[in-house]
Amino acid sequence: MASISRRYSQFFIPTLKEVPAEAEIISHQLMLRAGMIRKLAAGIYNYLPFGLMALKKVEGIVREEMDKAGAIEVLLPGVQPGDLWMESGRWDYYGPELLRFRDRHNRESCLGPTHEEVITDLVRREIHSYKQLPIILYQIQTKFRDEIRPRFGVMRAREFTMKDAYSFDVDEEGSNRSYERMHVAYEAIFRRCGLKFRAVEADTGAIGGSFSHEFMVLSDTGEDDIVSCQNCNYASNLEKAEVIVREDDSRCAERQKELQVVDTPGIRTVDEVTEFLSVGPEKLVKTLIYQTEQGPIAALVRGDHELNETKLRNVLNAQELAMADPETVFDVTGAPMGFAGAIGLKVRKLADFALKEMKNMVMGANEKDRHIVNVNEGRDFQVEQHADLRMITSSDLCPRCGGELRFGKGIEVGHIFKLGTKYTKALKANFLDKNGEETPIVMGCYGIGIERVVAAAIEQSHDDNGIIFPVSISPFEITILPLELHEARVRKVAEDLYRHLSDLGTGVFLDDRDERPGFKLKDADLLGIPVRVAVSVRTLKEDSIEIRLRSDPDVRLIPINKAPEAIKEVVQGLYDSLK
Ligand code: ATP
Ligand code: MG
Repeated sequence: MASISRRYSQFFIPTLKEVPAEAEIISHQLMLRAGMIRKLAAGIYNYLPFGLMALKKVEGIVREEMDKAGAIEVLLPGVQPGDLWMESGRWDYYGPELLRFRDRHNRESCLGPTHEEVITDLVRREIHSYKQLPIILYQIQTKFRDEIRPRFGVMRAREFTMKDAYSFDVDEEGSNRSYERMHVAYEAIFRRCGLKFRAVEADTGAIGGSFSHEFMVLSDTGEDDIVSCQNCNYASNLEKAEVIVREDDSRCAERQKELQVVDTPGIRTVDEVTEFLSVGPEKLVKTLIYQTEQGPIAALVRGDHELNETKLRNVLNAQELAMADPETVFDVTGAPMGFAGAIGLKVRKLADFALKEMKNMVMGANEKDRHIVNVNEGRDFQVEQHADLRMITSSDLCPRCGGELRFGKGIEVGHIFKLGTKYTKALKANFLDKNGEETPIVMGCYGIGIERVVAAAIEQSHDDNGIIFPVSISPFEITILPLELHEARVRKVAEDLYRHLSDLGTGVFLDDRDERPGFKLKDADLLGIPVRVAVSVRTLKEDSIEIRLRSDPDVRLIPINKAPEAIKEVVQGLYDSLK
């Protein structure tokens, strides 16, 4: 990739000494302090030269790997007609994250938060035969999402840059191959960007579809909870992680006891009930009333387990799902909140798999201040279905291999989906197959947040003094610091090196400001350029310059006449470590 060289005195990096109060997380603080970004409005940023250069480096890597994988670059518009979104059904479904407006002819329009509709429209107009398939198209372009809580700087912005790719295949098998190809390309992209990441199984959420992986950068400040196996390569978004029911549950062997109603004045929560009745929370059943567009339902989970709303939504195939309000709970159970139970409930009842094994449970009596003990399913109540409805816990084991699990946080930098024919059916993007029959194209979509990759890299790689850029996404590869600018020899050696290294094709940042050495070294630490070359009177006495990696305190002295090649080699070594 072409590298650019610049002089500090003729560049524009407004650094900040103080930690900006508005920035909660370290990457946001450092991007502001290193003069990479400035906020214009909530979730909307100016990219300054130092930030823009890092974004361009990431874009370059993404573009190279997409091209290598056979994807073809296009550029689709940011403004999209509302009609297309009505055709796909997402105009109503997408919610307030979609920024909508009318143009002067009163046509509904929106700013594109994603491009499934637009690309499917293009493909239905231009692709008609199996001979034109498969094809993968991609773009690197601005997206707008009116995020409810923009935060963490460019990590969760309203306006941001996304690489989005879309695959079109004749059948499921072909679509699987395209998905696999993108999966491999994503691994290469994030490895080359210097990130520590995992591909995790994910829920398909609002975009919808059949299968998906998220690429998660492991970091404590991540907004996503992930669980991974210590033994095999299983990793999953916490909300998606499957729970396998263990067979060795001794409670199954218990004899069914007689049903008994007990007075529990003012006792509602799991903790209160377990204490009052002196039973473990695993004997309790929580009966949770939810409101859906299909009407209210009851979901049953064990007292020590937490309901997973994503799983419940998927099992119900519901679009809307929310905890019922007190009035609805009263309508459904005849009691105030905190006393719901399964016996006699007239609504649909679903139970977590763990309830299948339970005997003599404790639950609410659907009466104020009353619970029932020794409840047994089958004898006392029935459910429509048992399903995996709960969050995985640290006492669960890997659903693939039974190994121990590890819990952590992740930043989602990329997401790949198998969409099937969701959009192509809705928009009638058909092709003629070999037998001349009209068939919907099978689709996949693949996104990467460009700014988020830069922010995640900084989140993962920094110290108390500033950024430590992976070489591949650093705005410059080398920074040269002439420490005493007034000394003619220092100036000359620095200038010669600057020219020579630039000619060798590396990106060099020459700090030619007339400032104290300590000041320059501090700024160099903040900016995080991976290779630092100090030219000073002290080492020139030995006809040498100093090289130091930003990631490593060790300093090496190199003779001036060998310096350009030696420095170039150090840079190359950093690139090689990312292969
Ligand atoms: P999230 O769960 O973080 O909101 P998403 O599932 O909405 O992400 P996708 O629709 O899959 O994200 O978008 C693809 C990629 O775009 C994400 O993996 C992420 O890297 C990036 N991205 C999404 N929303 C934002 C945002 N508000 N700001 C910056 N990057 C974003
Ligand atoms: Mg989102």
